[in-house]
This record gives sequence, structure tokens and C-alpha cells, in this order.
Amino acid sequence: MKPQFKFPIEMPFNLADLRGNLRHDEPMSKHTSWRVGGPAQWFYEPADLADLALFIQQLPKNIPIFWIGLGSNLLVRDGGIHGVVIRTAGLLNEIKLINDNTLYVEAGVSSAKLARFAARAGLSGTEFLAGIPGTFGGALAMNAGAWGKNTWSLVQSIETLNQRGQRYHRQITDYEINYRSVKGPKNEWFVAATLQLTSSSVEESFAKIKSLLKKRNETQPIGLPSCGSVFRNPQGDYAARLIEQAGWKGKGKGGVYVSEKHANFIINHTATTAADIESLIEQIRTSVKQKYGIHLIPEVFMVGEFIEKQT
Ligand SMILES: Cc1cc2nc3c(=O)[nH]c(=O)nc-3n(C[C@H](O)[C@H](O)[C@H](O)COP(=O)(O)OP(=O)(O)OC[C@H]3O[C@@H](n4cnc5c(N)ncnc54)[C@H](O)[C@@H]3O)c2cc1C
Repeated sequence: MKPQFKFPIEMPFNLADLRGNLRHDEPMSKHTSWRVGGPAQWFYEPADLADLALFIQQLPKNIPIFWIGLGSNLLVRDGGIHGVVIRTAGLLNEIKLINDNTLYVEAGVSSAKLARFAARAGLSGTEFLAGIPGTFGGALAMNAGAWGKNTWSLVQSIETLNQRGQRYHRQITDYEINYRSVKGPKNEWFVAATLQLTSSSVEESFAKIKSLLKKRNETQPIGLPSCGSVFRNPQGDYAARLIEQAGWKGKGKGGVYVSEKHANFIINHTATTAADIESLIEQIRTSVKQKYGIHLIPEVFMVGEFIEKQT
């Protein structure tokens, strides 16, 4: 069934001087690592930062805006996303050294590229990002982390764009940073940041990256459609341990199941719907709550409209 948006949004056709790519009814399944999700009503891929600012300045003021990077931590519901989706992956792509230990990185640079760029420059600190398959903007939004490290511990300053297309320079004190959680000024999105890193040898940084990627390959189902860890780890415990003990490893329904290799990963094995994935997430939460009294909180960001299934 084709999703119906609650009200149409006529895009003004006088959107002037844009160099990016604007599409209507874009299937979000093409832009999420779970490979599910209904359409974005409007979908924009900017040519660069100036083009993106111009695009946002010209949008009707009441239009909802949702930003995505690589969609590797995103469950888009089958009814799609109302308003405009802006995708930055590989587009806001500038990365440069601004002094010996400081990098300027735009939001669309992939976390893996950032890690390799820093290593080549003889800088250490970003190695843990090499195996996280999203953009740097997504890593900022989620405070992505691994192996005891996290993105915001490296951040020196932030650049944002607001819903009127204005750019701001922000300090880290403008944000409340926690484990996989970042709260800051409303209706602003990350466009770039400066990172403070430490000097290292190129060989050492690449050796660290290699060993972390190996560890990841040994413990996670890399290469299968997933969103990485679905739940945050509860204080002092591991979501994967609780899910495994509750008997969910390898279990699921239809084409969607809990990974045998890592119980906090849900794999979309065959083409399925976002509703199937969300339903499995809910079943796991209920089961862990009933068995251990622990309320698991999803790390994955869920967005969009539900759609009624045809019977
Ligand atoms: C195999 C696999 C392994 C993973 N391992 C890890 C891991 O070890 N550690 C970890 O933390 N995560 C992990 N993840 C999850 C995911 O890769 C990270 O959270 C990643 O940082 C998300 O980046 P993204 O560009 O894909 O963001 P998206 O999924 O596109 O977006 C995620 C959220 O960020 C917001 N967002 C995106 N860009 C911006 C922006 N520029 N400004 C403001 N908000 C923005 C979106 O609106 C959304 O709310 C893994 C995922 C997979 C598939």
C-alpha cells in the first residue's frame, strides 16, 4: 500500500540557484543500512555547505526537516517521512588539517575516512571510528563510540546550520553529552567540527585501526543488513548479554532475526518491513523487562509514519 502523507507540501518551484539534487517520494530503504523504510516526501542532496544553506533558506518555514547521514542507525517506518529529508553522506565532504593536532571535518565525511585521514597525518584518537559505518555528522549526533572511546571526547568546537539556513559556531559547553546521547540547541544540525587529536606515528595508528577492525569482524555480523547495536547498554551491564540470556539469539520472525554472532544486532535477512523490525525490538524489550526487570532503551533512532498492513 502506498503511504499517504497527511497533507501535501508543494515545493516552491522557484527554488533558485540550487546545485544539489531534489527528489520527491524517495524510498528511504535505499538510504538505510537495514534497507527498509517508506518514502521521504522530499529528499535533498546538497552540492556543498553553501548550497545547503541556500536550500534551507528558501524552504517554507513550517516544513519539517530531518537530516540523515548514512542511515546506519536509523529505522524509518514504512509510512515514510513527512517533509524534507536532507542527506549529507559523502556530500559535505571536506576534511583538512588546520594546525599540527587539529582537524576540521565536515558532517558528510565518513567516520572510516576520518580515521584513515588522521592516521595518515600522524594523529591518534579517531582509530575507534574506523569500523563505525556512518558519517561524522551521525557520529556527532549519536556520540558514537566503541572500545571505551567516544566522538565528543575529541571535539573542540562545532559548526551548525539552523532551520533558517544560518550558520553558528558553538562550543562544547552548549551541549549536554552522555553515552549515545547529545542534547543541544533545537532545530540546528551539525555541519562541521574541529577535533583535537594527539601526535602519533602513522604505523602505530594504522596498526591500531587494523587490530580494532579485526576484533570487530570476530565479534559482529559485519556485511549483513543491520543497524549495529539496537539497544544502549544498561548501566553496569551489556544489552547483548541480557538478550542472549533471554533466549533471543538466532530467533525472530519472517526475514528478521537476532544475530547468532552478537545478540544486540538485528539482521534484516530477506526484504521485510520496518514494522517487522520494530515489532521484534518491542518483543525483545518486553521479554528482557519481564525476565530481568531491566528496561532496554533503543540506541537506534526511529522516525516516520506507521502504515497499516493490508490483510
Ligand atoms: C555494522 C554496524 C556497526 C556499528 N557499530 C557502531 C559502534 O561501534 N558504535 C556506535 O556508536 N555506533 C555503531 N553503529 C551505528 C551507527 O553506525 C552510528 O551511530 C553512526 O555514527 C551513525 O551515523 P550515520 O551517518 O549513519 O547516521 P544516521 O543513521 O543517518 O542518523 C542517525 C541520527 O543522527 C542524526 N544526524 C545525522 N546526521 C546529522 C547531522 N549532520 N546533524 C544532526 N543530526 C544528524 C539523524 O537525524 C539521526 O537522528 C553501527 C552500525 C552498523 C550498521
